Amino acid sequence: MREVITRFAPTPSGPLHVGHLLAAMQARRLADAHGGRCLLRIEDIDVTRARSKEWVDLMYEDLAWLGIRFDGEVMVQSSRFGAYEQVLVQLRTMGLLYPCFCTRTEIKAQIAEMGRAPHATLGYQYPGTCKHLSADEAQARIARGDAHAWRLDMQRVQDLVGCPLWADLRRGVQRCVPSDFGDVVLARKEMPASYHLAVVIDDAEQGVTHVTRGEDLFDATHIHRALQAVLGLPVPQYLHHGLLRDNTGKRLAKRDGARSIASLRAAGFSPQDVRHSLRHALARGGIWFI
Ligand code: GLU
Repeated sequence: MREVITRFAPTPSGPLHVGHLLAAMQARRLADAHGGRCLLRIEDIDVTRARSKEWVDLMYEDLAWLGIRFDGEVMVQSSRFGAYEQVLVQLRTMGLLYPCFCTRTEIKAQIAEMGRAPHATLGYQYPGTCKHLSADEAQARIARGDAHAWRLDMQRVQDLVGCPLWADLRRGVQRCVPSDFGDVVLARKEMPASYHLAVVIDDAEQGVTHVTRGEDLFDATHIHRALQAVLGLPVPQYLHHGLLRDNTGKRLAKRDGARSIASLRAAGFSPQDVRHSLRHALARGGIWFI
């Protein structure tokens, strides 16, 4: 039987919080249950984000304090832009990417003009304005240095790979309909690889067999499945777990600084206290009290 490999893949956009602890525990537990490995990957591709390095250092400290163990080398996405670029070239060669010069404001205006938002499963869907630019015009705009993003043409993806299946360990077999999703951005100047692109390439590169992630990323998994199909990558199994909520039922967010591991440490809680609280929260359907 193939070795089970899971991963914890935090984005260093703030201090580690109890939601991260839940995600890390899910990955660690699933690996342990199968005698497998749990890897750590730092998803720091957003180089415009200030203080990222600081958050990564604090994250290592918090993880060590919590006593969560990871196996093997840590993968750091900001050192992998070369690998992402290679895949972008491949996708461009396959005719699946097109440059998009629209600003956010322009996209909003285009949607308003249409009188209704295009059907979108993931946020708003790009209305496809730049998809209809001629190759010459797009080239000319790139040559004159116009800022642009690279979008994945989901209709073409569907024409190529159809509607691939994937499995969620709780919710069963899922069917991805690529054209249900907007033409997602895979790269832009200040961020040469998007989350969707980097996560798919790296899960394959690290041989991840089981992806555990919050249910807020359920729709994103469809996009990842479409990319795997196009790139001929192996398909992990998925487990989307529930999210922690406060006692009003609101999802805990990064801005809830009091739930950061650092603040719990500073308030005198021990790692056992924090893990115990997490177990209790899960037993109460994910409601976090401290
Ligand atoms: N980096 C993402 C986050 O911190 C999670 C990535 C994933 O599980 O795919 O929300």
